[in-house]
Amino acid sequence: MPTSSVTYTATPAEKAWQDHLLLNDFYGLLDATPRRTPMRELISTVLSHRTTHRDEELAYDRMLETFSDWEGVLQAPTAELAHAIRTTRWPDTQAPRIQEILRRIKAEQGAFTLDFLADWPVEQGLAWLTDMPGIGLKTASLVLLFNFQKPVLPVDTHVHRVAQRVGMIGPKVSTEKAHHVLLELLPKEADVLLNFHKHNYWLGQHICFFAKPDCPRCPLKGFCNYYLEHYGPADAAALAATPLQWQGEKLH
Ligand code: SF4
Repeated sequence: MPTSSVTYTATPAEKAWQDHLLLNDFYGLLDATPRRTPMRELISTVLSHRTTHRDEELAYDRMLETFSDWEGVLQAPTAELAHAIRTTRWPDTQAPRIQEILRRIKAEQGAFTLDFLADWPVEQGLAWLTDMPGIGLKTASLVLLFNFQKPVLPVDTHVHRVAQRVGMIGPKVSTEKAHHVLLELLPKEADVLLNFHKHNYWLGQHICFFAKPDCPRCPLKGFCNYYLEHYGPADAAALAATPLQWQGEKLH
């Protein structure tokens, strides 16, 4: 299995890089080809708030099947839009937000497009996106990284939890602040940042659980503060028992 030369006295930057290398081996390296159009990434991320991937996709598909296109979604009675996206956690809140986002994009750009963000500096793009209702730093960073390969790092609750337990960030660093703190630890390269985000997101979802992390299955145990506190130093037997690669359900 991939082993770590990093000790428990490693710096946060050393831990972040070792995390990146080990999880590349564990989950496989992802390429930075956008998985969705920018508009879809933006609206799907709004729909995904506290909602499973399956229910988010269901809501997105129903919305466009019902109203045909973005103009149809914008013009739809808000209650009917809320009904179409009812598999999301808060449809009555998300429906007017989505319509306001669409209204502003159309009013400012003359069309339902985010392609202009490719030419904007990162800070300007982040400021423009986070000025929209319901769009925070995480969603804005996802769109800029995934669709435009900008050097930003989205940090959600899973990435935040893993980073704190491993010791890449301190216990008092908020999720919002972690966007900046973790970014400073990593190369400003979109492919590195995308892999770091997705891999740690998956680790948080399927191994480093909130209530009871499944540390024996975790490739980061060799330099994780939480592991050290709860199990002691990871010895050769514990490291050798770690699966080489992810063997669970399909990840997305
Ligand atoms: S060793 Fe345990 S606490 Fe540390 S990152 Fe892995 S699962 Fe989380």
